[in-house]
Amino acid sequence: MVLGNLGKSFGNVLKKIANAIFVDKKLVNEITKEIQKVLLESDVDINLIFSLTEEIKKKALDEKIPGLEKKEILLKLIHDRLVEILGKEKFELKISKGKAHKIMFIGLYGSGKTTSIGKMALYYSKRGYKTAVIGLDVHRPAASEQLKQLSQKGKISYFIDVTEKEPEKIWKKYEKEFKKFDLILIDTAGRDALNKNLINELWFLKKLINPDNVVLVMPADIGQTAKKQASEFKKVLNIDGVIITRMDGTAKGGGALISCHETNAKVYFIGVGEKLQDIEEFNPTSFVSQLLGMGDLNVLIEKARTSLDEKQLKKTKKRLEEGRFTLEDMCSQIKNMQKIGPLGKIAQLIPGMGKIKLPENLLSVQEGKLKRWKHAINSMTLEEKENPSILSTPRISRISKGSNVPTNEIREMLKQYKMIKEFLGKGLDPSKMDEKQMMKLAKKFKGKIPKGFKF
Ligand code: GDP
Ligand code: MG
Repeated sequence: MVLGNLGKSFGNVLKKIANAIFVDKKLVNEITKEIQKVLLESDVDINLIFSLTEEIKKKALDEKIPGLEKKEILLKLIHDRLVEILGKEKFELKISKGKAHKIMFIGLYGSGKTTSIGKMALYYSKRGYKTAVIGLDVHRPAASEQLKQLSQKGKISYFIDVTEKEPEKIWKKYEKEFKKFDLILIDTAGRDALNKNLINELWFLKKLINPDNVVLVMPADIGQTAKKQASEFKKVLNIDGVIITRMDGTAKGGGALISCHETNAKVYFIGVGEKLQDIEEFNPTSFVSQLLGMGDLNVLIEKARTSLDEKQLKKTKKRLEEGRFTLEDMCSQIKNMQKIGPLGKIAQLIPGMGKIKLPENLLSVQEGKLKRWKHAINSMTLEEKENPSILSTPRISRISKGSNVPTNEIREMLKQYKMIKEFLGKGLDPSKMDEKQMMKLAKKFKGKIPKGFKF
């Protein structure tokens, strides 16, 4: 999907969230400001922008969703609100084969009607629908020729009459041919503005043709004016869908899409380029997901999770301060560190540790091993978890039997624990800071971020 500038701008919003350590008022303010900026640039109605960001502000800090961290809630909130203003549902065009489904395309000059007809004809013929187009734009001499060329390119049946000056006559001339087709796309003439003349012509044509759908074509660069245009056309011609063209060339596409939803005009398709295949069905949910740089909400949540386990971090910090750092803490910390990358974030939260130099083997524990360690920990008493130094050799053997984890692995875990605890307990001597090594480590961990995670 082509999102252009809009996608890039929202990428920045996400980046800010991902890089933040805590979700606090300051972050929420920054994020909502950024969203406002992006939406203003997209020419979204200012009142709508403010009500949207106010809602995000209000809910971001208070809303609790079981199982979701604050960052996830914030992302979900942005996602859901955007989907809401774009219109949740995806429009499904119901075309039954053999029924000559007729779609009439209307719109002002240069909005992209003829091009969109060519694109949609190719789109549906590729999907097995016998599709034909008919040219009823008698005002522009080159209109029929353009339709003919597009149809030939897409190998679509076309019906035009370059000499006839009355669109009704052209329709009547070819009407009987359409029984053989599943889908008929009807091109009509536009005007510079919605005037009486255009309305009359389209109104009579609509009556004559009795189309199954009337689709208004508008270019994305008109931004929120799309609302006015859609509601005017709706009033007189009862349009039931919209195609927004030239989404590829402007940041205002978001505004056009959103303002269409305000008039209850469903966006069927968006045009994303000049070529015949540059058309996409419009699905608000996946559009927003793409906008926020994720496949779907689950991936989004996965992303938030990957970026930093805030709760775990706080817990570790507290435990360290209390001098209670258990084996379980160690496992989740290793897991956490492996996932998040920038170690500095953890370091900042631990008193006395501005920048840390971690032993490299600290994080080389593999996933499978970590799981087995957890099994072993589950076979321990609370006291043993909190103070593993009390574990005797016979006790270790018993835990090994109970958890089915070899004793040498349990010992290795205990060694690792000792090392980490010592390291964390010691704090950091600033004179030993090694920035280069930090960067190297951070880079190394970045490589561990799952596929599809990109900011
Ligand atoms: P009509 O007067 O409504 O029939 O508009 P046309 O179909 O002739 O399109 C007007 C111009 O917009 C043409 O130059 C098209 O190539 C261009 N156009 C239409 N749709 C798109 C689109 O999605 N992206 C881009 N970049 N150009 C488009
Ligand atoms: Mg045209």
